Amino acid sequence: MHERCLFCRIVAGEIPADIIHEDDLVLAFRDINPQAPTHVLVIPKHHIDSAADIGPTDGDLLARLWATIADVADREGLSRGWRVVTNVGRDAGQSVEHLHLHLLGGRPMAWPPG
Ligand code: 5GP
Ligand code: ZN
Repeated sequence: MHERCLFCRIVAGEIPADIIHEDDLVLAFRDINPQAPTHVLVIPKHHIDSAADIGPTDGDLLARLWATIADVADREGLSRGWRVVTNVGRDAGQSVEHLHLHLLGGRPMAWPPG
């Protein structure tokens, strides 16, 4: 746990969140400022700065993150489609330095993203 990390503090229960899935490896909760009807953040429970810091021993974690995303998309009824985004660094707009995958759905989305 990184004591000053917002998402580590959500994992620890120190900051409330609308949690929709929790297991031993990952947590999924609704984004506080949703950009689509469904906007869920799926994160590892242990601290990783960003996708740039994923390593060769993180296979089980990655499988769990993606399986959770598919399950949440199903539960949210996103049969028309959904998008996953992870921002890395300043140019991409990463504002919380704890790896998180944005699951977005429930409306048509443009491409390319802004
Ligand atoms: P980033 O900009 O790093 O890709 O995404 C960070 C996301 O975290 C943003 O979409 C922002 O709305 C969300 N966020 C920031 N603070 C909180 C919070 O306290 N609770 C929740 N649930 N989401 C947050
Ligand atoms: Zn953290």
